[in-house]
Amino acid sequence: MSTALPKKFTAAVVDEFKKPLNVRELDLPTPGDHQVLVKLLASGVCHTDLHAAEGDWPVQPTPPFVPGHEGVGEVVALGSGDLAGVELGDIVGNAWLWSSCGNCEFCRTGRETLCMDSVYGGYVENGSFGEYMLVDARYAPRLPKDVDPVEAAPILCAGVTVYKALKQSEVKPGQWVAISGIGGLGHIAVQYAVAMGMRVAAIDVADDKLELAKRYGAEVLINAKTEDDPEGALKEQTDGGVHGLVVTAVHPAAFEQAIGMSRRGGTIVFVGLPPNDFPANIFNIVFNSLTIRGSLVGTRQDMAEAIDFYVQGKVKPNVKEAKLEDINKIFERMHAGGIDGRISLNYQK
Ligand code: NAD
Ligand code: ZN
Ligand code: ZN
Repeated sequence: MSTALPKKFTAAVVDEFKKPLNVRELDLPTPGDHQVLVKLLASGVCHTDLHAAEGDWPVQPTPPFVPGHEGVGEVVALGSGDLAGVELGDIVGNAWLWSSCGNCEFCRTGRETLCMDSVYGGYVENGSFGEYMLVDARYAPRLPKDVDPVEAAPILCAGVTVYKALKQSEVKPGQWVAISGIGGLGHIAVQYAVAMGMRVAAIDVADDKLELAKRYGAEVLINAKTEDDPEGALKEQTDGGVHGLVVTAVHPAAFEQAIGMSRRGGTIVFVGLPPNDFPANIFNIVFNSLTIRGSLVGTRQDMAEAIDFYVQGKVKPNVKEAKLEDINKIFERMHAGGIDGRISLNYQK
């Protein structure tokens, strides 16, 4: 490892669930087999990081840990073994799919996100809420050297996740897709859907989010809070309901509602991960022959394609910059649904 590197670095650490993160020093890790050390330039803040810090899910990370899985930075030290061609000075990122085993049924059949031995970035492995991070070079997303790291960061989770989910919705060009939840994921989903030739309906509980969706090409806007009959309104304005839905909302009510908004034979892709359940009407699902599926981030190939859309200028995250020290305030705003688009931590100043 280069002698120019510090022994310690600053990161935002979850020391205890549901408590403010502590911005404090950690020992600089040394890259091991297949790993490289990355000096971060930026990191997006995903709602999953908030779920992680709150301990929301049945499978929890073990504090202390550093969240963040939309990090972009420069490779500053190389580990050993196969580094998949990654070199010093390359611009790479971390991702939720930090690594997988490469050998199981899922890895061998192009479904590596389902690998039982996959490691999650910013959850199992320390993430990008800090000045440095380790990545597995075989799984780290590659970005062009001239990329704007602050703007590109949200592509690494929000972007790839909704791009994959839209593919899973099986909506064809010219057909209707609804995006429920126009937050960090949803505002990028609208842009991918338009770029993929779909007609877009946007659903949220806040008018400013819907305005953002309209700016990106959504033709139908439904406020699920103020509209008397959101399901009826959507069906009327899309001539019988949407062919597919991608639900990124952070409230279980949106999941139940999605079932009533689908066209007969439609596909509903669940992406949002609020804790708890929702009631589902069996008759509606069977008689309307609905497909309901979950979708978890994307494979390395999905990631490369999602980045390509960004590099070609077809999607552009709406990003507000912040500093690492602001992380607890950002989480408070996120909890209250007060963020339009994505917040990206800028480590370059
Ligand atoms: P966000 O906080 O930026 O956005 C959430 C949006 O949901 C907000 O715009 C909010 O107004 C909206 N919303 C809340 N209640 C609603 C309702 N009843 N109907 C419609 N919209 C409603 O969050 P984000 O970063 O976009 O993440 C969204 C969810 O997706 C989180 O639960 C996150 O953990 C999950 N996620 C899943 C994957 C995956 O691979 N499946 C990947 C990334 C994030
Ligand atoms: Zn595997
Ligand atoms: Zn995420």
